[in-house]
Amino acid sequence: MKRCPYCFESLKFKQNICPHCAQFIIDDLIEVDYEPADTKRCMFCGKNILTEAVVCRHCHRWLDELNDALEENNEK
Ligand SMILES: [Zn+2]
Ligand SMILES: [Zn+2]
Repeated sequence: MKRCPYCFESLKFKQNICPHCAQFIIDDLIEVDYEPADTKRCMFCGKNILTEAVVCRHCHRWLDELNDALEENNEK
């Protein structure tokens, strides 16, 4: 099963823009043979998204933006 490399939602084929997270897909799709079940909460909108996701499919924000910001703050 092919999945979006950003929101990890399943895609039938590669599209220019992911219909789930609305990101331009410039990376290869992820091929996985399992059904992702674990979810986490988006730190921006609070909705449940897949643990593997780096983009929230609800608010379309990049979750690692905040991680980067936190790490920079910790280093200082
Ligand atoms: Zn996506
Ligand atoms: Zn969100």
